[in-house]
Amino acid sequence: MTVATPALTKVPNFINGRWIGCDASEWIDVTNPATGDVIAQTPLCGPADVDAAVEAAAAAFPDWRRTPPQDRIQPLFKLKQLLEDHVDDLARILTQENGKTLTEAKAELRRAIENVEVACGIPTMMQGYNLEDVARGIDETMIRQPLGVVAAIVPFNFPGMIPFWFLPYAIATGNTFVLKPSERVPLTMLRAYELMEKIGLPKGVVNMVNGGKTVVDALLDHPKVRAISFVGSTPVARYVYARAGEHGKRAQCQGGAKNHVIVLPDADMKMTTQIIGDSAFGCAGQRCLAVSVAVTIGEAQKTFRDSITEAAASLRVGNGLEEGIQMGPVISPHSKARVESLIETGQRQGAKILLDGRNPRIPKSETGNFVKPTILDGVPATSELTDTEIFGPVLSMVHANDLDEALAFLERSPYGNQASLFTSSGAAARRFRYEAPAGNIGINIGVAAPMAYFPFSGWKGSFFGIMHAQGHDAIEFFTEKKIVVERWAKEHSRKF
Ligand code: NAD
Repeated sequence: MTVATPALTKVPNFINGRWIGCDASEWIDVTNPATGDVIAQTPLCGPADVDAAVEAAAAAFPDWRRTPPQDRIQPLFKLKQLLEDHVDDLARILTQENGKTLTEAKAELRRAIENVEVACGIPTMMQGYNLEDVARGIDETMIRQPLGVVAAIVPFNFPGMIPFWFLPYAIATGNTFVLKPSERVPLTMLRAYELMEKIGLPKGVVNMVNGGKTVVDALLDHPKVRAISFVGSTPVARYVYARAGEHGKRAQCQGGAKNHVIVLPDADMKMTTQIIGDSAFGCAGQRCLAVSVAVTIGEAQKTFRDSITEAAASLRVGNGLEEGIQMGPVISPHSKARVESLIETGQRQGAKILLDGRNPRIPKSETGNFVKPTILDGVPATSELTDTEIFGPVLSMVHANDLDEALAFLERSPYGNQASLFTSSGAAARRFRYEAPAGNIGINIGVAAPMAYFPFSGWKGSFFGIMHAQGHDAIEFFTEKKIVVERWAKEHSRKF
């Protein structure tokens, strides 16, 4: 944390259709994780900035909710096209502030665009239902209405996609919206909001306030904010869920993860290795759906161990802007130090390091936060690593005698974001799908990320709430149901 220096981009807020500087006394440096260069500064704004954004959103709401759904989605069609047209530009910004490769950044933006596309279906998706003659001459109707002002608080690892899990659905259903980006990666949304200035949204429909915990708390406490969407680590998700609840707000809070993959000996080992390698080490292991623990069964212990170690060792690690780079850095020096110390903990507690990615030398990027792919074998079931989300390119391997034992291992995990199975047995796959204790299931899939028209699930400590992000759940979350019971046809009705 530093005092703002004049030469750097100081990230402004977007309130009531205008860019407004924040006169914060504290600023966070935004650094390029591949080089360590400071590229911008995020203000740690305060309650007054939140209040201005929420009041602007509240003032815009009455007119926006009366705008027909068909008209509300027209700006989203324009946004889709603008995001398509600017995907290269957005991906470069994303790579510079987050560190993931350009290919990964573009894939992330693709999912953002898909969410905009799905929200364009709101005139159909938001419809209610009705039934005539629930009693003689009486009809009953369920209609959905928007809530009012809603807010989203998002993490650093998908700065281009996660805001779009919420924003398009929130505004298409007639709400007005306040976003708080991650203070570590505010630049992708700065650019996306610049694009949104051109899509014809009325002032105050979308707003953005930058900062950290103070902004989050002000959103949670503000009486005019009706709903909170949160994505981040489990302790903060739990806190946000509880504090939103205290104020009577609805909340959907996605938390951290520790994702398991079970590898059966009948799996296609070449494909398995490639897919699990991408899941564990893609985005430098900083995906909430990254495979973190591989549970091998039978001879997969040896075959998978050997092939994944070889594949991981050959990954090209470096600055994600460079051609051919397959894995970028982790987000910060602090994160690098934490990941490396967890590797050491694993070793101390009995794991064997098959591939050690600590303190690598990366030509041309020696000041970046790099940890190379790391594989720990034989992590004891009781070790600190078993339940700790590492959030770096580290794959732990454990061995189980059969599927029963492997599933029991998953059952003990405090998280339930994703579980995957690699096999060629339909019966094993069916059993796994039926019993695996996680919200997103992959069968021969390494990152089981639901498409935009399915909810992004999550169980146990990975999710607090009922309605998830994306698809129909988003419509449920951002609307409230009103039931109307009507008597008009007096001649057919009960006589008084
Ligand atoms: P984080 O919890 O540190 O921060 C998330 C957001 O909360 C940020 O906007 C931050 O400013 C705010 N915040 C941080 N500390 C806070 C506090 N004490 N009080 C109030 N607000 C606070 O998470 P992160 O490091 O940015 O992101 C990584 C985490 O997000 C990982 O745990 C990852 O698994 C999780 N994640 C989960 C999903 C999912 O779908 N379940 C998706 C992406 C990321």
